[in-house]
Amino acid sequence: MTASIRLPSSIDVAVIGAGAAGLAAGRRLAAAGVDCVVLEARDRIGGRAHTVERDGFGLDMGCGWLHSADANPLVGLAQAARFTVDDTPPPWQQQAFDLGLSRAEQAQLGEAFEAFGARVAEAAAAGQDRPASDLFVAGERWNGLIDAISGALNGATFAEVSTLDYDAYADTGANLRVVEGYGTLVAALGHAVPVVLNAPVSRIDRRGPVIKIETARGMIEAKAVILTLPTSVLAGEAVRFDPPLPDLIEAAAGAPLGLASKLHMTVDGAEDFPIDSQLWGRTDTAQTGGYHLRPFGRPMIEAYFGGDLAWGLEVGGEAAFLDFAASELSDLLGSSFRRRIRPVATSLWGADVFARGAYSHVLPGQGDPDSGARARLARPVEDRIFVAGEATSKAFYGTAHGAWAEGERAAVEAIVALGVDPRLSSVPEDDGDRGG
Ligand SMILES: Cc1cc2nc3c(=O)[nH]c(=O)nc-3n(C[C@H](O)[C@H](O)[C@H](O)COP(=O)(O)OP(=O)(O)OC[C@H]3O[C@@H](n4cnc5c(N)ncnc54)[C@H](O)[C@@H]3O)c2cc1C
Repeated sequence: MTASIRLPSSIDVAVIGAGAAGLAAGRRLAAAGVDCVVLEARDRIGGRAHTVERDGFGLDMGCGWLHSADANPLVGLAQAARFTVDDTPPPWQQQAFDLGLSRAEQAQLGEAFEAFGARVAEAAAAGQDRPASDLFVAGERWNGLIDAISGALNGATFAEVSTLDYDAYADTGANLRVVEGYGTLVAALGHAVPVVLNAPVSRIDRRGPVIKIETARGMIEAKAVILTLPTSVLAGEAVRFDPPLPDLIEAAAGAPLGLASKLHMTVDGAEDFPIDSQLWGRTDTAQTGGYHLRPFGRPMIEAYFGGDLAWGLEVGGEAAFLDFAASELSDLLGSSFRRRIRPVATSLWGADVFARGAYSHVLPGQGDPDSGARARLARPVEDRIFVAGEATSKAFYGTAHGAWAEGERAAVEAIVALGVDPRLSSVPEDDGDRGG
């Protein structure tokens, strides 16, 4: 557990937000010998990387998969810190027991999704920045389920997703997990970073030669700022800039957070189900959940809801998620199934004022790699305000490792702006060791 430090009165670099991006930035700055502090609104570090302990298991409420694992710097860091990296393949391509979807139909769905991706890629190669849903085949049976997949991938339907931006994501197809939890890993890697907790920033005054930052714990002056707030928090103007930064706010609004929600449940008689398998609740609509059965062999089910469905269910809280999951699973597995599940932990990222959603997608028309929302968001302001986070990553947006790499990028920019040689910085090797 990271202890909070006292708020200093002045610093070289203030990092705002202690999620993956902010912690990576803090590590990089500290390694370069730059005087820095991370200002965090919550009473914990990690942001959307957050693991809760229940029944002896680390349950991830946010990120769970080390996506694009062969290009993911957190894999090596996890191994170096002696975390248990699990290489069981994800269950997303198969419907357990072929329930409601024959083998042939599962193959058809896979082919339809691949063909859709190819059409999006073609449109993107032609420079078209349109709603990705324009590339659906009208009337095709799988459109609803493809949009349910979009709910999981983008937190929104494909109608809300730019072809150019969706195509820019660089999935390598390799996915790993951390048994202790991805959130536990990120927090461990950030444990030595100086963080002031419970310090929501409300105003950034850049009128003078030093930047004045107002927090709930008082005021701090900095030469440079690294801003890692979720885009929907930025666009919601939770932080006021003096003078205002309309371009930045507009760029953030072009890459809003969609919603994905998790409900972790225990299940009686778990041995009836294959370990690490999956069920879609329905196959004819986007309004359906994905159910990961027995993750890591645990007697549990992790339900995943995306997009409009997640926004709607969040309003009713855990009871609404549970009721929806019980109803879909009972339809598939028999009416008595409802009695076998109990809720253990539910995420509510949409209502969380320090997140306002799960991960970013770019709206149609704003996906240009050079002038679109992500590019404008990442543009330094006066060479002293640098923006980072999953939303500034063009190839790995929406992910923890994308956020991590962007935090490092922004830190190097700040280091250069301060006149320090970035080659002198090397991040510590042994911190975050869960054995230490
Ligand atoms: C349900 C879900 C599932 C996911 N699954 C995966 C996955 O499997 N793999 C993957 O790689 N990624 C996944 N992600 C995405 C991943 O968790 C995020 O992309 C990543 O953690 C974002 O890191 P960040 O540093 O950009 O932002 P955050 O983690 O949001 O960090 C921003 C920080 O800023 C703080 N903050 C907010 N407002 C203020 C303020 N006013 N003042 C000071 N601080 C403030 C926040 O509290 C937070 O700590 C998932 C996310 C969710 C929600």
